[in-house]
Formats: sequence, C-alpha cells, structure tokens
Amino acid sequence: MPKTISAPRGTRDLLPAETAAWNRVESVARDLSRRYAFERIETPLFERVELFARGLGESSDAVEKEMFRVSGASGSDEERAEWALRPEPTAGIVRAFIEHGMHVWPGPLRLWMIGPMFRYDRPQAGRFRQFSQWDVEVIGDSGPAVDAELIELAHRFYAEVGLTDVVAHLNTIGDAVCRPVYRQALVDYFSLHVDRLTDDSRRRLQINPLRVLDDKQLAPDLAEGAPKSTDHLCDECRAHFRGVLDLLDALGVRHIVDHRLVRGLDYYTRTAFEFVIAGREGQQHALGGGGRYDGLVEVLGGRPTPGIGFGIGLDRVVIAMHEQGVSVPPTSTLVAVVGFADDHADRLRVAGQLRDAGLAMRPDGSSRKLGKQLEAAGKAGAAWAVIVGEELSQGLVGLKNLDSGEQESVAVEDVAARVSE
Ligand code: AMP
Repeated sequence: MPKTISAPRGTRDLLPAETAAWNRVESVARDLSRRYAFERIETPLFERVELFARGLGESSDAVEKEMFRVSGASGSDEERAEWALRPEPTAGIVRAFIEHGMHVWPGPLRLWMIGPMFRYDRPQAGRFRQFSQWDVEVIGDSGPAVDAELIELAHRFYAEVGLTDVVAHLNTIGDAVCRPVYRQALVDYFSLHVDRLTDDSRRRLQINPLRVLDDKQLAPDLAEGAPKSTDHLCDECRAHFRGVLDLLDALGVRHIVDHRLVRGLDYYTRTAFEFVIAGREGQQHALGGGGRYDGLVEVLGGRPTPGIGFGIGLDRVVIAMHEQGVSVPPTSTLVAVVGFADDHADRLRVAGQLRDAGLAMRPDGSSRKLGKQLEAAGKAGAAWAVIVGEELSQGLVGLKNLDSGEQESVAVEDVAARVSE
C-alpha cells in the first residue's frame, strides 16, 4: 500500500465539527465590517519579498526569521527568490492603495478582509504556519477618534463572538520626532545591563532597541525600570495618546496602558494595541493586535498618508471560544428526505422545493428500509425527516420530528413554516 501523506507541520485541516465556530466568527466579522462601513478588499496571498522587507522592516521577526518564501517552477534563481507568502495583510493593502491611486478616492478609506497569513515559525500551541486573520485598515485618517473607534470595534467583536474578559492593552511608541529620543534612552539604559540580556536582545539593542522590551525573557525588574515611551513623547504624540485614552474611557472600553507593548513591526507610529484575555498576558496568546502606521505609505513609495489597522487571529479566537465553553448553535435546521422505495426523483424534487423555501435538505440516496434511513438521518444531525410516499400525489408528505418521534401529514408548502416554528 502507498504511504499516507500528512498535512504540513504548523497547518491544520478545518473539519466539519469545528466549522460552526468558524462560521460564527467569520459572520460576526463580516457583519461588523458592514456595520462599521468598511469595504472589502482582497490582495494576493504572495507578494514580492521586498514589499515585506521595506514595509515591515528588516529587523522584524516576520522578515528576519519567519518569511515563507515561494518559488515558481521556472525562471532564474533571482526570480524564484522574489516572492513570499504574506505574513500579514497591511503591507499588501498599502501596496494596492498606492498602485491603484486610491489617495484620490474619497477618504478616509475603510477596508477589510479575511484570509490566510503565513509565517515560517516554530509551530506550537496557538502558533501556526498558516492562520487566518480578520483585518481592517483605515487609510487617510490621522485620529485619534478613529484609533478609539477601531479598538472599540475589536472589543465589540470579541463580545459578539461570545468571549469574556478580553482586555485591550495599549501604548504609544511616538513618531519620527520623539521616537529617536526614546530609542536613545532605551539604548542608554539597556547598555548598562547588557550582561543580563539574551543574545537576541543584545542584537536588537543595536538595530531596534524598542524590541528589547518585548523579549519574553527580559528580567521583570529590568523591564520595570526601563524608560517608558509615555515619558518621552513630543507634544503632538502626547495629545494624541491622551485623546485615545479619553475616548476609550468615554466609550467604556476596558483597557490597560502597557509600557512594554511595542509590537514587532518597524512601521508603527503612535498608537499600538493588542488584545488578550485577562490573566493570560504574554504575546503567544494575543487574540489580535494593531496600530497606527503613519509612515508606511511613504516608505512604500506613496505620498505621506496616515493609516491605522488591526488584525485579529481567528484561529486563536476559535480556540479561546472553545476554552471558555462558548456554545455555537447550528445556523440552520437540517431536514432529511427519506422514502419507501426507488423514489429518488420524488425525494430530489421535494428537496428542491424545500431548498427554494430556504431549508437545508439532505436527501437519502439509498433504497434501504425506512427505519434505517431515519436512523441515519438522526445520526447525521437532522432534526426533522420528510417522508415521501404515496400521499405526495395529493401534495402531502410525512413530517417526523426526530427528537420526539412525533409524525404528521403536512402539505409540502407548509413544511418550511412547520420546521421553523
Ligand atoms: P501580529 O501582527 O503578529 O500581532 O498578529 C496579529 C494577530 O494574528 C495576533 O494577535 C494573533 O491573534 C494572530 N497570529 C499571529 N501569528 C500567528 C500564528 N503564527 N498563529 C496563529 N495566530 C497568529
């Protein structure tokens, strides 16, 4: 027998038993996108490596360690090395914004998408090589009202999918004016304690000192004593951050200022945020995150345009729903169609009529005994069975409630109403 083949490490099959939670999560995301007046955008699953290198920064983990490169079947070696599967959506969306001249569209632009992202990271609990994100971006609005609106939107999403205790952690990382001062303060501070830093942090201290703060192995007292960005802000950044905090208070959104939150990406400015379940802090478990990227459009060759967005990891949301015991009722009632003989044309016709009426119909394709067909219908999760028999000539079918076992004769056109009672 040929050897079986398993799915690549760090990927998962989504099996029917899990789809109810996924359907719920995706439909809440779509519906909120509509209610918050976002428009859908789709970009390719792969882009030029250079887009991510420039857009995320060479020193980001996504570029430095986790880039999932893809190659074509032919072409020169340089061509083959050119593409990577997208590790995050913002760079591709901003590329599209510039490429299609969207800066002349009536703005600010409010865009959303749901799709897979890829990071070639070491797989572990809640960390996959392929995962899905719901992403929203607002391009052309410098805030701070929109910053608060997005944080409130994400917060509402978690509540609507049924999660409790989700807290927004937020921070500001300044802008081109004040960040260099803060950066230097961090370099000065951590340089005094180099012997207590991990190898990774020592390297980061040279190229991206803010990221020393999100080293999980940083000693708590060192982290505690580190300079805080909020003590080094320029007037504009301070007013912006104050504005976001005041609005979140006014909206009643649960939040914590987290001085260690700097996020991994170079292009962020000012507001940075992440969502975690209270008591489960630590980046591994972040259910989503985002921030402002006022410098990105320019870095990618467009005119200076402010932007802000977030990405919510749907895999982790589904896992958290499972952990919190969130029950997801099936979205539609399943109805089986069974019969007494080789009457498949009748069964399919009745199924078709009831599908027209919006029901989810599952015709039995066998000519087994009626009892066996009803048993199979119950096992498949049907709540009702429509029994097609001789009465069909008068427009009637048997309608059996598979829970109670009760059965009655009803006109085909009345089945939908009866089932939805
Ligand atoms: P990031 O841009 O890294 O903050 O990612 C945004 C969100 O995507 C995170 O808060 C997670 O919910 C999710 N996420 C990021 N990386 C992974 C991964 N490797 N596996 C599953 N979910 C992820």
